[in-house]
Amino acid sequence: MTTRGSGSPNDMVVRTASIAAEVAALNAAEVDAKSRFPQETFAALKADRLLSTAVPTAYGGDGAGMLDLGMQCAKLAQGCGASGMVLAMHHIQVACIARHAADSAYFQRYMRENLVQRQELVASITSENGTFGDTRSSVCAVVVDGDEMSLEKDATTVSYGAHADAQLVTCRRVADAAASDQVMVLFEKDQYTLAQTGTWDTLGMCGTCSPGAKFSGRGAAAQILPGAYADSSAQTMVPYSHILWSALWSGIASDAIARAATFVRAEARRKPGTVPANATRLARAHVDLQTMRNNWESCAREFDDLTSADDANAREELGTMGWALKMNQLKMASSEMGPRLCHEALQIIGIMGYKNDSKFSVGRHYRDLLSASLMVSNERIAAKSASMLLVFKDE
Ligand SMILES: Cc1cc2nc3c(=O)[nH]c(=O)nc-3n(C[C@H](O)[C@H](O)[C@H](O)COP(=O)(O)OP(=O)(O)OC[C@H]3O[C@@H](n4cnc5c(N)ncnc54)[C@H](O)[C@@H]3O)c2cc1C
Repeated sequence: MTTRGSGSPNDMVVRTASIAAEVAALNAAEVDAKSRFPQETFAALKADRLLSTAVPTAYGGDGAGMLDLGMQCAKLAQGCGASGMVLAMHHIQVACIARHAADSAYFQRYMRENLVQRQELVASITSENGTFGDTRSSVCAVVVDGDEMSLEKDATTVSYGAHADAQLVTCRRVADAAASDQVMVLFEKDQYTLAQTGTWDTLGMCGTCSPGAKFSGRGAAAQILPGAYADSSAQTMVPYSHILWSALWSGIASDAIARAATFVRAEARRKPGTVPANATRLARAHVDLQTMRNNWESCAREFDDLTSADDANAREELGTMGWALKMNQLKMASSEMGPRLCHEALQIIGIMGYKNDSKFSVGRHYRDLLSASLMVSNERIAAKSASMLLVFKDE
């Protein structure tokens, strides 16, 4: 049986925008203050079948491309930044499965039944004690025994681990493999334990609920994604992460600037016939906001054009230095522009933006966006770009 998708890409963005305004935004302050998972928002997305938008239509999903997924994450982040981040992380994991495991009978069934019919939520464990922030190396290794496998991982940060229905985990391919010889393994809810090892008492992105955890899982060998993580990282994990993160960060910045615009308009109404002094600063902030949006949207369009034309050719292009640099540049630009825009919104609004209990408050937006440059450290990314630029000529 084929399960129907949730509608046209445009329709799914509109429906997500309603949930952002009517559910996510109303709970965002409490989610932030209590560092709790935005369960109402994810219950609403699940009820409206909006968690399977990244699943290909062949398995009952919407088959949404990068641009539409980015729009969906940005809209949700306008209501609640942490919710936008959770949705983006879920889509990134789904895309890895859809683009690298679609030939596997196990993963075909998983997409149809778990992701589409049951609207399950997938979390990711790439971080690990001992590898620092380098996602392209692992200490732990999957142990395969006949048709079965098992894995233990000491993770530093696992977002919504306790609220997810599955974990997609990176590890070394075998016990004697090099640190960078990695694979991804999917574990379903009843196949693992996650023992929390730390707290998640952070400046921002509180609702992602991302403490450290010791993971221990056991399942079928068929749950190891076919192929090397080196390929799924370059061709899918990195582009989906950097584009969808940039999209949701632009959504958070949009909401901060929208609050500044509402504030400036209210000032203008108080003194009819005059343009408030801070309106010029607002005009300048809009220039940066447009740049931020255009940057992720053009990368998303390019990704969609590449992958819809000829996927084999696209996979080759996505593995090039030129594409890797483009993704690094997008991530660095968006993660640095986001907090700057919140800072601008704060200067425009003044004390009413600084107060946490004001309708013009931009504190949560600012704190959420401070995570952007750390979430895969910009210094680490810049160092990688620097090495590539020693040999790559941008002609
Ligand atoms: C909101 C949020 C959610 C997250 N969710 C998850 C999740 O669900 N699953 C998961 O696995 N992980 C998750 N992470 C972890 C994330 O993916 C990174 O692993 C983590 O943020 C990096 O940690 P780090 O700063 O210790 O790493 P590092 O990259 O080791 O950086 C530490 C310090 O070293 C510096 N540094 C590093 N490399 C260089 C270099 N080459 N040159 C100069 N300086 C350098 C950096 O500037 C930084 O100050 C999340 C992180 C955040 C913020």
